[in-house]
Amino acid sequence: MLVPGTHARSWESTRALCAEHSVDLALGAHPWFLDEAARAPTAEDLTGCVALGEIGLDRPHAKAHGGWDRQLRLLRQQLELAVELDLPVVLHVVKAHGPMLEELRRLGRVRGLLHSFMGPTELLSPYSALGLKFSFGPAVMRAGVRRGLEALRACPRDLLLFESDAPDGGRPAALPDLVAFASALRGEAVGAVRPF
Ligand SMILES: [Zn+2]
Repeated sequence: MLVPGTHARSWESTRALCAEHSVDLALGAHPWFLDEAARAPTAEDLTGCVALGEIGLDRPHAKAHGGWDRQLRLLRQQLELAVELDLPVVLHVVKAHGPMLEELRRLGRVRGLLHSFMGPTELLSPYSALGLKFSFGPAVMRAGVRRGLEALRACPRDLLLFESDAPDGGRPAALPDLVAFASALRGEAVGAVRPF
């Protein structure tokens, strides 16, 4: 289980929470929270982290949260650091798959995952070719998200991950339902959720 941080201001409390509950930690500057105090983590900040994230590009949030150029700049900085430190990344991408693929291709191979992936299926191949896996959250169970369901059905088993997307996208208690839903959709058992 992994808890990602989103802003320099909360990295220390996220770290304390993870230490208290023996949960894996990731830290990053999330595109929703790019105020003046936002910054990319340093190698020192990332001590003890198993990944760098949540980081990414979010087109609808760009205008109100620091602007598109700032999103791109911080993403680049953080992707380069992840490659340097050989850490996987947790990527948040909304209406920005073209530019994200461009950034990842520029760097070559990056390990990590796309969080709360909602398709479309055509993205499975380019992202997986670059070293990314796909984490599906409770949003995929909501009505009217056909491209999310199609992607969940088509995603290769070894690239498939699940998340609660808590607190914004769901609750940890929804995870067993999500795994059961995915198993039924795919017609195969895709894992069990260990009680925590
Ligand atoms: Zn996100």
